[in-house]
Amino acid sequence: PDTAAPDPIQDYLDDLHFRIGRMSGGTVASYIPELAKADPMQCGIAIATVDGKVYAAGDARTPFTIQSVSKPFLYGYALERYGREAVLQRVGVEPTGEAFNSIVLDEVHNRPFNPMVNAGAIAVAETVRGHTLGERIDTLLALFGRFAGRPLAIDEAVFESEKATGHRNRAIAYMMLNSGMIRAAPEDILDVYFRQCAIEVTAVDLAVMGAALANNGVNPLTGERALAAEFIPDVLSVMNSCGMYNYAGQWSYDVGIPAKSGVAGSIMAVIPGQLGIAVFSPPIDGHGNSVRGVAACRDIAATFGLHVFKTQ
Ligand code: GLU
Repeated sequence: PDTAAPDPIQDYLDDLHFRIGRMSGGTVASYIPELAKADPMQCGIAIATVDGKVYAAGDARTPFTIQSVSKPFLYGYALERYGREAVLQRVGVEPTGEAFNSIVLDEVHNRPFNPMVNAGAIAVAETVRGHTLGERIDTLLALFGRFAGRPLAIDEAVFESEKATGHRNRAIAYMMLNSGMIRAAPEDILDVYFRQCAIEVTAVDLAVMGAALANNGVNPLTGERALAAEFIPDVLSVMNSCGMYNYAGQWSYDVGIPAKSGVAGSIMAVIPGQLGIAVFSPPIDGHGNSVRGVAACRDIAATFGLHVFKTQ
């Protein structure tokens, strides 16, 4: 439930929204044509606590596609289904310093560098259970629904738009088929990957999903377990080192909280044991991170002293 009565956190969020909602800079992603239709003025912020309180400001209930913020959840799913050893054969945990869509594999192991870049996420998408595409979509929606605490759906227009134009991801998938990192037909895996990216969420959903990660895998609203606790550290470590595209190192240095961003303009950040934070605002910077999202997270982390390596 949202807190209706004024309280200090709600006051702070409203004030933060007022300050960053007017910021300029960045452009709405357009390489997926459907994403270019987003309203650049939209800006929503949400915080969810591990004890189930939800705070929201601005366009926090406006739907958008999750895009790369889906990657940590599916990485956790793959670990739970196949275990660390098997997943590490297919995807590493090393930051790349390269763009999210780089067509580069780790030459020593011939595998994608990490599950937060597209190559790694496409390899992970092969692990989604199901004999038919329909079953795999059901698996996806059940997983994300457990994290969000409500049923989610796929934005078919965004899915179709990316399926029609995502040839770079297609090239990455074929390259991995060539190197043996994926075994299934690339187009079948991309049918899962493009759909996972097109799941519709709101900032409130992402904050709750982040709070489930912060709460050792249990959704704080429903009490349902979304991911086994033993894999939460794996997910949060790769978010910490690789979650913010080729800005991840600077982000970790300055803001110091595990986070993942997506090209539709969202950032989800996790304070282990405490909170999930989500910001949605479509204009993104040259790294692919939401301009207002980065500003909001910096402000929240500084105001509440959340940098994980800061002890006082
Ligand atoms: N579906 C997008 C792609 O693969 C996700 C990119 C992102 O959010 O980083 O290009």
